[in-house]
Amino acid sequence: MTAVLTVENLSTFFKTEKGIARAVENVSFSVEEGEMLGLIGESGCGKTTVAQSILRLIEFPGKVVAGSVHLNGRDLLKASDSELDSLRWKDLSVIPQNAMNALNPVYTIGDQIMEAILLHERVSKREALARTKTLLELVGIDGDRWKSYPHEFSGGMKQRVAIAMSLACSPKLVISDESTTGLDVLTQAQVIALIKNLQRKMDLSVILISHDLPMVTAICDKIAIMYAGKIVELASTEDILNDTRHPYSKALLQATPDLSDPDREVISIPGSVPNLVNIPQCCRFHTRCAFAFDRCRKETPEFREVKNGHFSACFLEEEENG
Ligand code: SF4
Repeated sequence: MTAVLTVENLSTFFKTEKGIARAVENVSFSVEEGEMLGLIGESGCGKTTVAQSILRLIEFPGKVVAGSVHLNGRDLLKASDSELDSLRWKDLSVIPQNAMNALNPVYTIGDQIMEAILLHERVSKREALARTKTLLELVGIDGDRWKSYPHEFSGGMKQRVAIAMSLACSPKLVISDESTTGLDVLTQAQVIALIKNLQRKMDLSVILISHDLPMVTAICDKIAIMYAGKIVELASTEDILNDTRHPYSKALLQATPDLSDPDREVISIPGSVPNLVNIPQCCRFHTRCAFAFDRCRKETPEFREVKNGHFSACFLEEEENG
């Protein structure tokens, strides 16, 4: 498989009154063609900051301080604003967290999707309209409803429109950032099923950002688990479930109810996430880890490959294997 996106040693920091918050540090992963990567972790772990860094949407007092982001071989962090503008719809697009904010209430949904097409591709209005209708059909909305305004749709349908819009210029990579937030459980499931269906049908590469571990394990090919600004484990979904290596990943799985095994005890993770301002250089999970030992409080574990395509950042493996 070919990597569509490669992120290497990405670090994004924020200046705060209390010091530098290392919101994302040394994050590395790739997304292959037609692959769905789940980026998962608790609130504030840096998932959205990773997405915003990839999209170059980090604003002062934040800054991408190190690393590279290659999309089909082009370094997004070095691209000019105009290059980025053309890449953003044609190669890379976003399904936003809240379609209410993404859709302009004074324009029809058709006009908004057509505008995205006409701004980025040389096509006639007639062709843009035909494509808009096809896109709406693709997300399960009657193409003739292109003349409707956002307020005429339910939350779930607005989210479908946002998905259609993200696909307007046939991107290769789509980032879905908690795109079912605010929807009821049934609609969430429908929207997620739609994203999965489109990914398969269009051979899309997708980064699915979520804190919903069961959902991510159900539909993603590969999972990156973040804790306090770092990826602590990255592996195929099968390995994350059946050959979990990092103590945080294990704790996260144990803290998540399993609907297929309702008798399994749910064990919450003790303690709280460290403050990212002036965080010491050591394992960020050490205050909550049941396996922590001296070294964990003094050194930072390297994010390294523990078996083919399976990465983890923990000293235990090294200590056990000598
Ligand atoms: Fe736990 Fe140490 Fe591994 Fe960190 S490095 S996860 S504290 S065992």
